[in-house]
Amino acid sequence: MGILREINKVRIVIALGGNALLKRGEALTIDAQKENAKRACKLIAEVARSHQVTLTHGNGPQVGMLALQAASHDASKPYPFDVLDAESEGMIGYQLSQQLRNFLSEKKIATLLTQIEVDPNDSAFLHPTKFIGPGYDKIQAEALAHTHQWTIKADGQYFRRVIASPQPLRILELEIIKLLLDAGVLVICCGGGGIPVIREATGDYEGVEAVIDKDLASSLLAREIKADCFVILTDVMGVMKNWGDSFAEVIKEIAVSDLEAMHFPEGSMLPKIKAACEFVKKTGHRAYIGALDDLPEILAGNAGTVIDLTI
Ligand code: ADP
Ligand code: MG
Repeated sequence: MGILREINKVRIVIALGGNALLKRGEALTIDAQKENAKRACKLIAEVARSHQVTLTHGNGPQVGMLALQAASHDASKPYPFDVLDAESEGMIGYQLSQQLRNFLSEKKIATLLTQIEVDPNDSAFLHPTKFIGPGYDKIQAEALAHTHQWTIKADGQYFRRVIASPQPLRILELEIIKLLLDAGVLVICCGGGGIPVIREATGDYEGVEAVIDKDLASSLLAREIKADCFVILTDVMGVMKNWGDSFAEVIKEIAVSDLEAMHFPEGSMLPKIKAACEFVKKTGHRAYIGALDDLPEILAGNAGTVIDLTI
């Protein structure tokens, strides 16, 4: 089952969860983010030593914090989310590339701001699902929603702001990413799902108020660069059967068709399932979902959930 035993130099896309970078309930301090980035990069560096890794990451907690900061500057004219997405991609990409460099001094590493085209008529603009920012208790969240005209939804025991999360259609910098990969560069890209842009009738690109799901953006990237495997790292041990019950257990391996028949919550596990299934169906290769700390074991086939065409 372990892919690393089957192919010598594997092209791997690793998607790092925003919540794996900042543990739930943990303060959004730069120290906490640095510590978590270090922990993640130590594990990823070990894989990147012998394989071609492309790293993507989430930005849910961070982009929400940047939105709060921007609102405190001038609440009447908040910075739009495309700009905040770019800021968070720069902030997290900077931290990841610095930590990776510390572990992998021999490797060329580059962080690339990535714009991703979305459809301006995507129905996601009418139904926000993407959690951003910190978790609040219900009363706090309702007060904030009233003040700022936010949409809020329950995320486990907390309440969080949600915004539109349209489908990623096209990675504008794809050719540049491929050039970098061919030159042996470890590329950090599609951070926070990339920066959502639309193409206007004039042919010009314009940013839009949304946060693309990083799992879906990473799946698109993994397909486009013909990755041999796609790994989604998060803060749970894998895809759980009976999630939320005391008898919940990790699904060790599952066929795409069986996984697609199950139900998962929007805005957290569902995009990972869609992203993984899409990759497996289009490439015939496996996708893996599991906990950051288990990365070596996931790739060895001993932890997490493996998604395959058939099992
Ligand atoms: P990330 O920042 O890594 O994208 P998300 O919060 O978006 O993290 O998604 C991971 C979360 O999905 C888990 O922490 C868990 O709370 C939730 N989840 C929902 N359903 C399941 C399930 N069936 N199995 C495992 N986790 C689930
Ligand atoms: Mg997520």
